[in-house]
Amino acid sequence: PPQPTPAPLAADAAFRLGFLGAGNLAESIARGVAASGVLPASAIRTAPHRRPERAAAFASLGARILDSNAQVVHDSDVIVISVKPQIVKQVLVELKPLLSEEKLLVSIAAGIKMKDLQDWSGQRRIIRVMPNTPSAVGQAASVMCLGEMATEKDEDRVKSLFSAIGKVWTAEEKYFDAVTGLSGSGPAYIFLAIEAMADGGVAAGLPRDLALGLASQTVFGAATMVSETGKHPGQLKDQVTSPAGTTIAGVHELEKGSFRGTLINAVVAATTRCRELS
Ligand code: NAD
Repeated sequence: PPQPTPAPLAADAAFRLGFLGAGNLAESIARGVAASGVLPASAIRTAPHRRPERAAAFASLGARILDSNAQVVHDSDVIVISVKPQIVKQVLVELKPLLSEEKLLVSIAAGIKMKDLQDWSGQRRIIRVMPNTPSAVGQAASVMCLGEMATEKDEDRVKSLFSAIGKVWTAEEKYFDAVTGLSGSGPAYIFLAIEAMADGGVAAGLPRDLALGLASQTVFGAATMVSETGKHPGQLKDQVTSPAGTTIAGVHELEKGSFRGTLINAVVAATTRCRELS
């Protein structure tokens, strides 16, 4: 296929970033990367696969719109595989002749293992990342693992990309099922908790919208206290439970209902289910 002339790299762009699959998560990453200045928008490119409206979303950021996945590969140093998991194989096998170890492959496809990525692409300079849905609001919890040929510089680059949409950790791939059970499925557990706390507020007499606002801001504030103070959550809990006070009365009810045991079981059950599916 005819290849476009590679776009001249802006002076401040360390690398060209291409997305195979111009979907929701790709857009969140592109938006975060451009907004935080990790890369200029002109260093980002994608091809809208049979969906012109996806081109508009990326074009509005200032990203370069190309005609095909092949062009994206040709015109990128770091290639993010951001199609749905069930078509990763097809996309990689098709592009295999165009790939080389001069380029870094980054897969964000849930459940697709490093070994399959290597077999399908014929490459070993790969980083696999597991983000979660709060990526849409710049608050993802992402975990990455490095393939055999990925370098420290590659790790730094991917860290900079995913830091633009939240927080990122590096861990071995053997932990990825448990990561899925915790941070992958975790937003849903907390949605339930927020809904239930709001219901509690309504049961106690608050208007619905006030109750929902207070519940979600309380979860956000508590999470921020844990991450910003570095204090153990048990210590923070002790600080807000005064003798014979209101908070310990609420905590007592949670313990009667096996609140912590139930959350532990939820993470383990989701991890087990992830192993069954892989
Ligand atoms: P999405 O459906 O929004 O994006 C996929 C895009 O790929 C679509 O725009 C589709 O048109 C395009 N596409 C389909 N076939 C293609 C092809 N052959 N070549 C190029 N593009 C093609 O999905 P999403 O929510 O952005 O998820 C993308 C990937 O990210 C998935 O593999 C998913 O497992 C993973 N993931 C997403 C999240 C999240 O928060 N959304 C979290 C973890 C992992």
